[in-house]
Amino acid sequence: MKDYDVAVVGAGPVGSTFARYASQKGLKIAIFDKKKEIGVPLQCAGLLGNKIKEVNILPEEVILNEIHGACLYSPSNTMISMRKKEEPLAYVLDRVAYDKFLAQLAVDKGAELFLNHRVNDVDTKNGEIFFKDKKISAKVIVGADGYSSIVSNKFKNNLKTVQAAQYLVDTGKDTFNDDYFQVNVNSEISPGFIWTIPLSESTARIGLFANSSYKSLNIILNNFLESNEKLKDAEILKKYYGKIPLYDSKDIVKDRAILLGDSASQVKPTTGGGLIIGFICAKIAAEIVSEAINSNNMNILKEYQKQFKKMYNNELKLQLKVQETYGSLSDEDLDSVILKLKEKEVGKIVSEYGDLDSQSPLVINLLKSGILFSVLPKLLFRKIFGL
Ligand SMILES: Cc1cc2nc3c(=O)[nH]c(=O)nc-3n(C[C@H](O)[C@H](O)[C@H](O)COP(=O)(O)OP(=O)(O)OC[C@H]3O[C@@H](n4cnc5c(N)ncnc54)[C@H](O)[C@@H]3O)c2cc1C
Repeated sequence: MKDYDVAVVGAGPVGSTFARYASQKGLKIAIFDKKKEIGVPLQCAGLLGNKIKEVNILPEEVILNEIHGACLYSPSNTMISMRKKEEPLAYVLDRVAYDKFLAQLAVDKGAELFLNHRVNDVDTKNGEIFFKDKKISAKVIVGADGYSSIVSNKFKNNLKTVQAAQYLVDTGKDTFNDDYFQVNVNSEISPGFIWTIPLSESTARIGLFANSSYKSLNIILNNFLESNEKLKDAEILKKYYGKIPLYDSKDIVKDRAILLGDSASQVKPTTGGGLIIGFICAKIAAEIVSEAINSNNMNILKEYQKQFKKMYNNELKLQLKVQETYGSLSDEDLDSVILKLKEKEVGKIVSEYGDLDSQSPLVINLLKSGILFSVLPKLLFRKIFGL
């Protein structure tokens, strides 16, 4: 007799969302997290596309700001902007409060939450989870333990990550247009980028991800602040660090275990965003795990991997190609492409088809209009689309 139907390793937003759905299906769920306090320290810019409202519960209290538009700056400061007319393009969240909220929802639906419980090892065949001084058993193990996943180690997936750093800055005066988030690109950090996400007119989260050490990221961020007249005297209130997994299409189901969220590299390569995909996958996983347990047939778990790949593999692979190509552009290339996009008034197409969560509709419409042909050098075009 197992202790639980499902043991979820990791009470991050994705693990908690899975636990809520699975509890609602009448399963006996335990969630284990090594942290003493959920969500702390913050490791997120907290920018979520408006699709969030379709894929999870979002209480008003955790929304710090609503964003309606975006500006993209080239290395020499050519700027393209886009704006959604009606509904917000994205929300800026208090991620710590949101993580706590989602964990509490899971508990309210019946899941048992164990904080300060670091999982040291798992046995995916027998459904056993090992802590420093005890072990528990479960019919299914869900590895939702983020980028440093101990569960994914058992899959020998060798999760690849890039580093991210972020400052919370306060300029003490009206500096930011709090309706727009900003992205700055240059070849030093590509395929990463610098983001500026305003919380108000005077405060913003400014960060970047790149394949560099935390020390290098700090130097780049400090230079970015110092070289900007409006930001050079800003007070840095806090610094945050974290890692972002790079998508790869390895197995996410093994024996009695599945991987979910960052531990499954369910992250958009172009933006580093993992919450919306993670929430969608949490729902699919809860359906399939419940079916596998109810019919006492662990082979059914493989359906989760199949459904995930069917929904996301092509989109995430396209994003990887876009990233790879973007990473190979020089500052001159970036300036010239962004200038041409501006001349072609591409902001209008982006306003209509741009979606923070899925780049395919935008790419297809840029292809249809012939714009991609005219702005990308032929060689790069072939590289992205494999022509
Ligand atoms: C700087 C930065 C900015 C980001 N900005 C955005 C953004 O704006 N929008 C967006 O959508 N995404 C963003 N992301 C990505 C997003 O934060 C992740 O995709 C998301 O947190 C994944 O959720 P998760 O539940 O899978 O994993 P996590 O949030 O990492 O949660 C994993 C949990 O597992 C626990 N855990 C780990 N190991 C163990 C263990 N051995 N035993 C027990 N518990 C364990 C951890 O304590 C943690 O609570 C950003 C990431 C970074 C680093």
